[in-house]
Formats: sequence, structure tokens, C-alpha cells
Amino acid sequence: MRQDYKEIATTVVNDPTNYKVCMVCGAIVDKASPTCPDCLAYRFDSSPGYVTDRAVDMAAKPQNAVSHHDTLE
Ligand SMILES: [Zn+2]
Repeated sequence: MRQDYKEIATTVVNDPTNYKVCMVCGAIVDKASPTCPDCLAYRFDSSPGYVTDRAVDMAAKPQNAVSHHDTLE
């Protein structure tokens, strides 16, 4: 399991110029990384405003991949 999204988001929001957003899967990637570690894409949007938006969005939506024990009614 990777770092908590909220933790990452806080770091990103504080310093968005060090990050970029993958245009394929939407992952936030370190600017030093040549390709996306998730999908290996190499197209990014590095505008700080967009990176910040994406980080906030990511922190606001909890991951739903872990637990499926809650039954739908
Ligand atoms: Zn990606």
C-alpha cells in the first residue's frame, strides 16, 4: 500500500511545482519522473493550478478498492 492520499495531497498542494499530473490515468507524479509509474505514460500536465486541483480531488475521494464488505441496499 502506498502513502496515504491525504498525506500526498498535502505535500503536493504545498509545493505543486514539483509535481505533474498524468494525462492518461490522472496520477500525480514527481516532476523528476520521466514516465508515469502507474501506467508508463509520458504525457503530463504540469500547470500548478491543475496539479493542486487534482491533489485536492484525490484527497476528497476515499479509495474504494480495499473493502467491499458493505452491502448495497
Ligand atoms: Zn498514468
